[in-house]
Amino acid sequence: VDQPVTRPIQAHIDIAALRHNHALARRHAGKARMWSVIKANGYGHGALRIARGLEQVADGFALLELDTALALRAQGIRQPLLLLEGFYNTDELQAFAQQHLIPVVHRLDQAEALVRSDFSLPVYLKLNTGMNRLGLNVDELAAALDLLRGYEITLMTHFSDADEGLGIDDQMQCLKKMHRGRDYPLCLANSAALLRFPEALGDWVRPGIMLYGASPFPWMKSAAEIGLRPVMTLTSELIAVRDLQPGDRVGYGGAFVAEHRMTIGIVACGYGDGYPRHAPTGTPILVNGQRTRTVGRVSMDKICVDLTDIAAARVGSPVILWSEGLSSDEVAASAGTVSYELFCALAARVPVVEQ
Ligand code: PLP
Repeated sequence: VDQPVTRPIQAHIDIAALRHNHALARRHAGKARMWSVIKANGYGHGALRIARGLEQVADGFALLELDTALALRAQGIRQPLLLLEGFYNTDELQAFAQQHLIPVVHRLDQAEALVRSDFSLPVYLKLNTGMNRLGLNVDELAAALDLLRGYEITLMTHFSDADEGLGIDDQMQCLKKMHRGRDYPLCLANSAALLRFPEALGDWVRPGIMLYGASPFPWMKSAAEIGLRPVMTLTSELIAVRDLQPGDRVGYGGAFVAEHRMTIGIVACGYGDGYPRHAPTGTPILVNGQRTRTVGRVSMDKICVDLTDIAAARVGSPVILWSEGLSSDEVAASAGTVSYELFCALAARVPVVEQ
């Protein structure tokens, strides 16, 4: 039955903000070309929506889900597509060749399989320079280059600490050793490196989080200070308002106890929508555009908020979970996580509205 959606929660995606952030990343990238990272369904914003939004300006899109890449092609996205974990199974190579997808090769046996397959694709070789997740070490690189003679090759690596104190020095040293005497283009910087280390961009950069308007290092510099605009705004409404007496407990486990008479509101949003369950009492939230705090545990479908200083609040009052005036980074920090996780967790049941 086609019933209209009536639950008031919505995620608003601001394509103008996305383009603004892309242009800002571009300015930082200088001459380097730029993969826009849209893995995990465009960090929860919708991979196709983001690809469409950047179609006119992006050099290419990076993701790792083959089904999404094929869907983008089916929808007419013509830009280069870089598959960040390459192929998991050699059966996939035909689709890579047919749809012009560029695989990241991170194991030697993948290079062998590629050569055996006879598909002549451009390839990215991922180098392990110290993160120790994916990538070829020095010996494997020499062997892979030997195997892939005649292929169009770019070397890439991923920084583990571009956003933290350690920085990128050790990894850059390792990379330089691996690149020495070789003339392949390099693909290096994520958002943090793009903003912090202009000397380490490479020929291609790979920003993700900054395109969505969150800071890659919010403890050092907020998204607004960087000049980014949030792409996602999560809104809802109060669906109940109630008065509490001193000693009244709120929510599961009675984790919040009213110390005096107070009014709380119940918001139609919970961890079933992607709001972080670990957000403690005191997490900032906007009601009627005014800042207040959550109280008690986040439930699957509901959050309780303190209305003490918001006299005008009533059922139907607008609530903002994150947006321009209340960054996802602030909410994430309160919940001990990062905006990446908040965005990726946005649940399928939340209707998305494009602006
Ligand atoms: N490159 C690779 C290989 C990644 O895995 C990611 C994301 O984790 C990025 C680039 C983009 O990083 P960020 O979103 O921090 O800019």
